[in-house]
Amino acid sequence: MNCPKCCGSMAPVAFRDVEVDRCDSCGGIWFDLMELERLAKTKGAEIIDSAARKMDTAAGPTTSAKTKCPHCTEPMIEMTVHGQPHIRFESCTVCHGAFLDAGELRDMKQLTLAEWLRSLLRRG
Ligand SMILES: [Zn+2]
Ligand SMILES: [Zn+2]
Repeated sequence: MNCPKCCGSMAPVAFRDVEVDRCDSCGGIWFDLMELERLAKTKGAEIIDSAARKMDTAAGPTTSAKTKCPHCTEPMIEMTVHGQPHIRFESCTVCHGAFLDAGELRDMKQLTLAEWLRSLLRRG
């Protein structure tokens, strides 16, 4: 499987019983249906995210609208994370896989915790 962003080769990375594919070049991670949700809820899963944003100079802007699903080759749509509008990732409308850039899973999980704390404070 090749990376939908930079066409680099993707290697399987496992966390517990969930196996995702990570790009050797840009560090982006491909999640099949439900894998992202499962890992977002799993403590410590962010270790699969190398968090090194290598895209900046090498591969140019990450805003390419033509990112295609590595499974279906359908154009993917841009999604935002609920409550974290600064995180944008691509999702396939056919197989519902998702592609996150390097660092986004860590970002998502950190902010998930921050958001959770904030919601507790709001409620209190
Ligand atoms: Zn890549
Ligand atoms: Zn797809």
